[in-house]
Amino acid sequence: MAHLTFKKGVHPPSNKSFTEHRSIERIPVPETLLVPLSQHLGVPANPVVQKGDHVAVGDLLGEAPRLISARIHSPAAGVVKRIVDQPLPGGNLAQYVEITVDREATERHTFPGNDVDPASVSREQLLEIIRAAGVVGMGGATFPTDVKFSPTKDKSLDVLVVNGAECEPYLTCDHRVMVEETEALMRGCRALHNAYRFEAIYIAIEANKPDAIKAFEDLIAVYSDLPIKVVSLSTKYPQGAEKMLVRTVTGRVIPTGKLPLDVGAVVCNVQTLFAIYEAYFFRKPVIERVLTVSGAGIDRPKNIRALVGTPLELLVEHCGGITGPVNKVVAGGPMTGTSLPTLDYSVSKGSSGFLFLTNADVETENPCIRCSRCVSVCPMNLMPLKLAAYSRAGRYSELKRLAVNSCFECGSCSFVCPAKINIVAYVRHAKKYIRLHNARENKR
Ligand code: SF4
Ligand code: SF4
Repeated sequence: MAHLTFKKGVHPPSNKSFTEHRSIERIPVPETLLVPLSQHLGVPANPVVQKGDHVAVGDLLGEAPRLISARIHSPAAGVVKRIVDQPLPGGNLAQYVEITVDREATERHTFPGNDVDPASVSREQLLEIIRAAGVVGMGGATFPTDVKFSPTKDKSLDVLVVNGAECEPYLTCDHRVMVEETEALMRGCRALHNAYRFEAIYIAIEANKPDAIKAFEDLIAVYSDLPIKVVSLSTKYPQGAEKMLVRTVTGRVIPTGKLPLDVGAVVCNVQTLFAIYEAYFFRKPVIERVLTVSGAGIDRPKNIRALVGTPLELLVEHCGGITGPVNKVVAGGPMTGTSLPTLDYSVSKGSSGFLFLTNADVETENPCIRCSRCVSVCPMNLMPLKLAAYSRAGRYSELKRLAVNSCFECGSCSFVCPAKINIVAYVRHAKKYIRLHNARENKR
């Protein structure tokens, strides 16, 4: 099978061997959960519970106040201990609902399946099911999924790309879900297809996951009513970025500032698809996910199914504890993830993994030697060296001219930079400044 790919990009060491063949383990229900009310892109959910309230599994904790927001549900039965402000990975403060868990009641709870006939569910009903369940992009972007699947009236949506690339080093949670939940993912595709009648559904997987490719290929005949094709992608970073993925598998080019919907495509991460399946067939909200705990600094790296709100310290304990001289803890993958200053965080819908890195030397930044390696790998054809320099100098109008907002923060430029310049951090800073500046201007 030929492997498809895109131009440019980088080949970081994959480091997936820590966990790629480790089956998903379920972590025991914790005694306490810390559930953030902001687990998605957009406006945080408003709390609908207060201290002392009893909650059951799946009860609403937070209501989405706007379209670009998502509902938050209780992952456990128990009592609301308090609502507290704490930082999210990245530093922004958010409200968290702390729940003292009734472990027995939580373990007893099941979401019974319903015999829903996909043919009887309209697109509007499907979107309402997805919204009610608080489904967001679980590849890390956390954009509300119902909005993502809602093209404006002047646009058609004819292609679904199931994103199984998982191109970030270390992470293998999507890989394991594809191998262990293949049938559920196919049923999820069928549910979506009945509402959208896609011309094509591509299941796009990097070639370094041959068992996942085979698992889907083995089921193609059973789902012959669906226009599904399994596509093998070259193993290259950032193959899973939406713009690269859509172009690679469909040949459609998403213009700068536009979305896959603008070219008739929608990209759905495999765990998002699994969440849609659970919402559709079980009316189960997003209260848990599979994530990877890995790195040379953790005793027993694993793929874990954990309730949302599970404290990071418990994940560490479940994996045998920290072993080596860890000099970096990362939420997410090493290319786009966020360094954590402490372990005082918990699992959220967007938690693809936590990494304990011992080889991440604290590297000193040196002056740019104008080697242009960053330019040669940027999949968006930007000038990363100039973006970093202008951001450092506060020249924001120059940054706008250089289309800084087209950068999707893949980190490829930082990865190849021999001067160890954290280019993506400079870009993030500049984008934040421009956003705040624009918001201030709009208020005037
Ligand atoms: S400038 Fe942005 S899009 Fe280009 S390589 Fe760097 S992080 Fe990726
Ligand atoms: S890769 Fe680093 S050193 Fe080379 S041009 Fe880009 S910023 Fe400068």
